[in-house]
Parts: sequence; structure tokens; C-alpha cells
Amino acid sequence: MGTKSYDEAIYDLQKLLIEKDELKTVAAAKLEQITAELQTVSSSDSNSFDPVERIKQGFVTFKKEKYDTNPALYGELAKGQSPKYMVFACSDSRVCPSHVLNFHPGDAFVVRNIANMVPPYDKVKYAGVGAAIEYAVLHLKVENIVVIGHSACGGIKGLMTFPLDGNNSTDFIEDWVKICLPAKTKVLAENGKSALEDQCGRCEKEAVNVSLANLLTYPFVREGVVKGTLALKGGYYDFVNGSFELWGLKFGLSPAHSI
Ligand SMILES: [Zn+2]
Repeated sequence: MGTKSYDEAIYDLQKLLIEKDELKTVAAAKLEQITAELQTVSSSDSNSFDPVERIKQGFVTFKKEKYDTNPALYGELAKGQSPKYMVFACSDSRVCPSHVLNFHPGDAFVVRNIANMVPPYDKVKYAGVGAAIEYAVLHLKVENIVVIGHSACGGIKGLMTFPLDGNNSTDFIEDWVKICLPAKTKVLAENGKSALEDQCGRCEKEAVNVSLANLLTYPFVREGVVKGTLALKGGYYDFVNGSFELWGLKFGLSPAHSI
């Protein structure tokens, strides 16, 4: 459905570039005028951002300050990895788990996606996530899987506000966030009259619980939990208040800890 081969995609791109070139000739004067206007409006900061230079400088700083000063760690990591954690976090640029939890290289095997969701076991639809969990549990033998939600999550706001009636307005996002539909249903049943912001905050945490339950649909995760070699934990990072909450599977085993 709507899939294109790699070759077709390249062909389309070349066509677009040719069309763009023709457009440029026709509208050159207009473009020049707009460019001139833009330059007079903002000739400062945002225009001077050089994405390649930023990457170069970032790596130079990392190499000098971290890599070269810690040969023992990077020497060990050159031989292999044995992280204690697998972490699911949102792709949101503000919630990098390595920053927030001070993880070092080798500490955590991380999957980041829209709204830090773990889909249920499904070889066809969610092979990417399944492969990561399988590798983390069976090969790296992580001891903990932590799903971390966060405040002001755009993906969760989408889940709460999309009609999700089958008439999708997005190619991927609605189908993806629907993974945590049970969280939305629960929040609406218990807090249907609350303001959207409050509902979203509740759903950000409930969605983590749905993901923890979904993890149990993977046979190798279930087995690890039963044997006691694998623990599942929920987390919530509030970047507005600067707090972090951690809880266990909701089997009444471990209460939430605020940090
Ligand atoms: Zn998010």
C-alpha cells in the first residue's frame, strides 16, 4: 500500500530536482527578492548556523574531553558491551536519557521513538522494536528494561487529540500512537472532565504502564521476569519541574520513588 522501491524514490527525487531547477529559472527574480528580504530581517544568529560545522565541533569536543581522557572505558567498550539497562525514551530533543540519568557509554541500550512506546509483540508491524528487545534480552542479557515517559509529550498530546476513527490525517503518527490507546481510554473514563493538559499529564504516565504490559507479550521478556533475571520499570521525567519518578510493574511489588 503506497510503497515505492528505492529506485522509484530516487527517480522521483531526480524529477523533483529537475522541476525545481525549472521553477528556479521562472521564479528567480521572486526568489532573489524574498532572499534579500529575509537577509535584511534576520542577518544574525539563526542564519549563521552551520550544521556541518556544529557536528565537527561536537565530535572534536567529545574526542578531546571524553574519549581521549578515558582510555580505560573506551578500551573496554572496544571489546564489547554489557549494558545493565535497556531504555525506551521519547525522541523529543529535551529528554535524552543519557543526559537526564547520567548514563555513560556502555550503560544503556536505548530505543527512542515517538512517545516512548513499546508495541505489543508483532513480527510484521513492529519488527524494529521487536529486534531491539530480542537483542537486548537474549544477547546482551540486560537486567532492567525502563520505559521513560515525560512531561509535555507531543506524541501523547496527539494520542489524546487525534479522533483515531480510521480517517487518518497522518501517514504514520496516528497508527503509531494508537499503541497506547488503552491509556487514553482509561484517562478519559476516570478524568473525562479534566482540562486537556491534565489529561495529557495522566496519559503520559498511563502510557508507560501500557508499554510495560506490552513488554510482557514478548515471550523472552516474560521468561526473564518469571525467572527473576529481568525487571521492568516505569519512569517519568518532568522537565518543567526538574523531577524524576520511578516505579515497578503494577503488581504491587514496588511503590513509586520520587527523585
Ligand atoms: Zn515525547
